[in-house]
Amino acid sequence: MRKKLVAGNWKMNGSLAKNQVLLDSVKQGLASAPCDVAVFPPFPYLLPAFESLRGTRVAIGAQTLSEYPEGAYTGEVSAGMLKELGCVYVLVGHSERRSLFGESDSTVAAKFVAALSAGLLPVLCFGETLAERNAGVALDVVKRQVLAVLERCGGVWPEQALLAYEPVWAIGTGLTATPLQAQEVHAFARSLLVSGVAERDAGVRILYGGSVKPQNAAELFAQPDIDGGLIGGASLQAEDFLGICRAAV
Ligand code: PEP
Repeated sequence: MRKKLVAGNWKMNGSLAKNQVLLDSVKQGLASAPCDVAVFPPFPYLLPAFESLRGTRVAIGAQTLSEYPEGAYTGEVSAGMLKELGCVYVLVGHSERRSLFGESDSTVAAKFVAALSAGLLPVLCFGETLAERNAGVALDVVKRQVLAVLERCGGVWPEQALLAYEPVWAIGTGLTATPLQAQEVHAFARSLLVSGVAERDAGVRILYGGSVKPQNAAELFAQPDIDGGLIGGASLQAEDFLGICRAAV
């Protein structure tokens, strides 16, 4: 049985004062959350988030990382730096990184491996655009994105690394994949991981992301291959975020 994880991707939002209020409220409501909980603040807010969450069970992750370990890469942040701060997770391949910052499958794979080698748990985000879904190639896109990383890992999905199916057409749009649409893709992605150690692949957590709200979370999380959520907009409101966490049984 996989324990669910609900993770809040704050994207480029927040301020020191707003984050404090948000995290104070999340901490107060945490006892009612049956799942693992994580937040992914922007880089400058990582340290204050650690201070605010010290002693709680909320894990912290970063939204991206450099594929390089160190050196003359102005503006980049390495996996080792994130690990040193205490980050547990890091997102790789979020659709906004792919579409707005030109990250290719190959870059995403390099970042994934960089995260692993520093001891971080990468969360591989993947998903098709609306045009790709309408053209009937959603599963082909998913396969390409997942296999690009799997192959870089020598064909064996690393234990404890996560995936997040985020259909691009559902991110920040208010549109959500139906539970059955999401389940179909999650089951397909899981089938791609099969590496000969079926029990291990069955233990890999695959999150769903794309306009998850307290109102639709329970139905999504009830699907057998959906192991929690990656939450954007709703993670900025403590009540909504906690409502989603409560649905993750
Ligand atoms: C995201 O940014 O990963 C996301 C899922 O956003 P939203 O929940 O706002 O659709």
